[in-house]
Amino acid sequence: MPETPRTPVESGVPDHFQYMHPTLRKNYGQWAWHDRLRPGVLHHVSENGEEVWTVRAGTPRQMDVHTVRRLCDIADQYADGHVRFTIRSNIEFMVSAVDKVQPLIDKLAEEGFPVGGTGNSVSMISHTQGWLHCDIPGTDASGVVKSLMDELYQEFVNEEMPNRVRITTSCCQINCGGQGDIAINIQHTKPPKINHDLVSNVCERPSVVARCPVAAIRPALVNGKPSLEVDEKKCVCCGACYPPCPPMQINDPEHSKLAIWVGGKHSNSRSRPMMHKLAVAGLPNNPPRWPEAAEAVKTILRCYKRDARDYERIGEWIERIGWARFFEMTGFPFTRFHVDNWRAPRTGLNTSAHIRF
Ligand code: SF4
Ligand code: SF4
Repeated sequence: MPETPRTPVESGVPDHFQYMHPTLRKNYGQWAWHDRLRPGVLHHVSENGEEVWTVRAGTPRQMDVHTVRRLCDIADQYADGHVRFTIRSNIEFMVSAVDKVQPLIDKLAEEGFPVGGTGNSVSMISHTQGWLHCDIPGTDASGVVKSLMDELYQEFVNEEMPNRVRITTSCCQINCGGQGDIAINIQHTKPPKINHDLVSNVCERPSVVARCPVAAIRPALVNGKPSLEVDEKKCVCCGACYPPCPPMQINDPEHSKLAIWVGGKHSNSRSRPMMHKLAVAGLPNNPPRWPEAAEAVKTILRCYKRDARDYERIGEWIERIGWARFFEMTGFPFTRFHVDNWRAPRTGLNTSAHIRF
């Protein structure tokens, strides 16, 4: 029977085989072994003896078209014309001869793209889309990433950590935040401010009422106009009402802070996945370089690097030494916000009769 052509689809990713390096395509599913020649360089050997070298470089994550073109030109001139992006926004160049590796590394260094991120290093920070694609960010997640990776450059190009370190950032408190070894998340500390003049024109009030996880929002008549009100004693400042109702502004230059969480679901190699836990809260959301958040992350990394056993992830290290010792070592204050016995949700979260969407 003749081969049926693939049905065109209007959505979803295209067939990736057409873009693959020919050696990868030919040996798909037939790799015998691999090793790491140096930080940022992987070497794969297939069952029939064919070899491919992969050079991984860091990117600024959100790139303009000039940077993408520059990377593509490097791929054409110094690699075999094929690239791929990793889930942490590193770029990988594949070459089928070992003598192409060093000139490629040299060119990347000359153009300002560090080679590293494989093995026991701090790989590129994964971040949520932020202002580029989303309408509710409370901070510029990509800015935090760029400024922090500038400071963690040596940990990307060297493999000196006890195990891999995966850091994530999240620009709101409710949606696509990560569960990294270290997670930097926005933290709202005040209830939303309501612009009553706009609510009735912009918001579908029943949806907004239903959205609140602690049933703190009620319909109300304000200055003769239909609006909403918030019971501030119940509000947990999650920010969930802001996306369906932008007049309920929760972002605030002073009261929207950053919090750092550790030991999330990525952060284990032998133990069960764990929920991440609060390490430090109330850090200023301080663009353009976020020095307070950067210092806290570097403190955690310094203690982990010095004290963890080989191949322990951050979560496993903290579980072994105990949380009391973690706070002692890092010097972070331990406050009442760190204590959660999960009793409050019985009377708050998920006990309202509202239907949620
Ligand atoms: S974390 Fe929140 S604000 Fe950031 S991209 Fe995801 S949904 Fe949008
Ligand atoms: S959705 Fe969140 S921020 Fe909005 S009122 Fe409810 S608890 Fe407060």
